[in-house]
Amino acid sequence: MPTNLESMRPQSWQGIDDIVIVGGGLAGLFCALKLAPRPVTVLAAAPIGQGASSAWAQGGIAAAMSPGDSFDKHLADTVAAGAGLVEEKMARLMISEGPDRVHDLLAYGVPFDRDLEGHLLLSREAAHSERRIVRVAGDRAGGAIMEALISAVRRTPSIRVMEGYVVEELIAEGRFVSGVIARPDAGQSKTRVAFPARAVVLCSGGVGHLYQVTTNPAEARGTGVGMAARAGAVIADPEFVQFHPTAIDIGQDPAPLATEALRGEGAVLVNRAGHRFMADLHADAELAPRDIVARGVFAEVAAGRGAFLDCTRAIGKDFARRFPTVHASCIAAGIDPATQAIPVVPAVHYHMGGVAVDADGRSSLDGLWAAGEVTSSGVHGANRLASNSLLEAIVFAGRIADSIKGMLPESALYEWAKSAGENDDLVTVEDSPELKTLRGLMSSHAGVVRDEAGLKLLIRELVGLERKRPRVRFSNIVATAKLIAVGAYLRTESRGAHMRSDHPASQATLRHRTYLTLKQTDRIAAELAG
Ligand SMILES: Cc1cc2nc3c(=O)[nH]c(=O)nc-3n(C[C@H](O)[C@H](O)[C@H](O)COP(=O)(O)OP(=O)(O)OC[C@H]3O[C@@H](n4cnc5c(N)ncnc54)[C@H](O)[C@@H]3O)c2cc1C
Repeated sequence: MPTNLESMRPQSWQGIDDIVIVGGGLAGLFCALKLAPRPVTVLAAAPIGQGASSAWAQGGIAAAMSPGDSFDKHLADTVAAGAGLVEEKMARLMISEGPDRVHDLLAYGVPFDRDLEGHLLLSREAAHSERRIVRVAGDRAGGAIMEALISAVRRTPSIRVMEGYVVEELIAEGRFVSGVIARPDAGQSKTRVAFPARAVVLCSGGVGHLYQVTTNPAEARGTGVGMAARAGAVIADPEFVQFHPTAIDIGQDPAPLATEALRGEGAVLVNRAGHRFMADLHADAELAPRDIVARGVFAEVAAGRGAFLDCTRAIGKDFARRFPTVHASCIAAGIDPATQAIPVVPAVHYHMGGVAVDADGRSSLDGLWAAGEVTSSGVHGANRLASNSLLEAIVFAGRIADSIKGMLPESALYEWAKSAGENDDLVTVEDSPELKTLRGLMSSHAGVVRDEAGLKLLIRELVGLERKRPRVRFSNIVATAKLIAVGAYLRTESRGAHMRSDHPASQATLRHRTYLTLKQTDRIAAELAG
């Protein structure tokens, strides 16, 4: 809460009928388009199309659309991957609305791959029992989807896009959210701007940059979860962080990705000795659920044997044509994936936890909706099934638009107000030594494998870091890190993407989701910090 909230309120508060969407990735833009012609303001930390995981997605969107597939089969795969924590009603809802939302994307101009007869071409990914991933030009799904949506947004006069606006706080009084406060110029401006709103939709993406090795863009720093938690929203399942098993290990930040589809097409994982280690660990070998493959790769790397994705036989000379994005990353690092195995490492890829939302994307606070990776809707449980995240983003963003349309009056002649805010927080959190320290601590103690001693140490260090840098934007980051750490500390079992070396088995008594507020988290952190 800003201290000078009253002074930031515009005179014309009563007339405000704006809808503010935080984030210009797939969830944010899709929601804005679905709300048209209602006036919407999209605030995005980076120019839309950049700084969003959506633009980087390689595989595509999972949707049961082939004649041999069914909603039941897609649901069964989703539930199996989620390790006992999938909210089945929510997942069924997402899956059954998926094909219609894919048709919406086609209508917005997304050029999904088709066969000669014009049917959508569907590919298969790990832990999917059917070919059900709609894709574009092999591995270009995210970029192509975003290009189409951005051009649709630019053609829609009711959508105002404000790029380079980093949202730092929700304006909240008690349980009512009535706007956001943002800092322009990619967060470098000396003034902050208040955007009062009837409805705020948080679509700010994931948490990858709380860790050292991640596939996410730098904007994915968990600030959305942090600011919602700071305003009092309930956060669900924060401890479940998914590691992609095959980020390309060439020392880049963010780490480029060798898409799961490569394994779907038959690429194998080997160590330096050429041993296909996943065959020892799971009946589905390379196509086992992500957490199992990530732990297999982590173990080989930690033991010094290295891990490599060998595509030479399965894809070989077709590599550049079929997987142009991965090909370009490899070639830039001096690796020819047609003839050489690609060195890989697990990297933070996706956050199953986030702002707890219902079937209409409503959070526990009035006036605050959320969609996409910033949320925890329960559809992924303890482990997301590949390509279900873009699906979740479009389905729930669409449902939010319907929910808001039903609640707000039609009139909506929007006005917006601007007022200068505090000057105290000119942050370059991005380069701060504290953020670097935090990323190292998170990777060491809340990474692929966790234990009680490491998590306690992490929580104490996070509390110390927060005291050292009590600034708004860093507070959002630390809040999210604390939620992940405390959630992982409380879950004394291993389940899905959460692995505790001191509690390697799943416990029937812990087969439930985690719900935490920041208040509860801080109480536990304070007890542990002593
Ligand atoms: C390399 C890669 C490949 C992937 N491949 C797939 C795939 O094939 N299929 C699949 O289903 N999923 C995939 N995923 C996951 C999927 O891309 C994401 O979960 C999904 O795109 C999230 O969409 P979103 O709209 O919620 O967030 P994003 O697309 O990340 O957008 C978040 C937006 O919020 C903005 N933002 C962040 N913080 C702030 C702030 N404080 N103020 C203002 N704006 C802010 C960002 O700049 C951005 O505009 C992949 C992820 C990565 C990283």
